[in-house]
Amino acid sequence: MTIFEKILHKEIPTTIIYEDEYALAFPDISPQTPIHILVIPKQKARNFSDLNQWSPVAIGEYMHSIQKVIHHLNLTDGYRIVFNTGDQGGQTVDYLHAHILAGETLGWPPF
Ligand code: 5GP
Repeated sequence: MTIFEKILHKEIPTTIIYEDEYALAFPDISPQTPIHILVIPKQKARNFSDLNQWSPVAIGEYMHSIQKVIHHLNLTDGYRIVFNTGDQGGQTVDYLHAHILAGETLGWPPF
């Protein structure tokens, strides 16, 4: 079981930023920006590529939850959403998660 599944099942404590039927949001343990929130789906997926096994409705529900987290955080000055995917994508935890990065001006390109 991944660390995020343990957080999802409340086996590891975290500060819950937002939770609904479809997703859970909590702060990244090693924030890369002043605001760095992770949003994980309650339906299991290893990464963004695994979403090809989900229905469009389920994908939409997860995206809707991410949108609600952003609304909750009131990120009026902008933000970035990142799905690191696979080895070359920099994914280190094998459970789908969206990074919400905000709180400062972000650079581009991101590497
Ligand atoms: P990835 O590199 O897979 O896109 O992102 C994984 C993220 O999970 C990293 O930013 C890392 O700091 C974060 N992370 C790893 N372990 C934990 C943990 O136990 N708790 C929390 N809140 N974040 C974690």
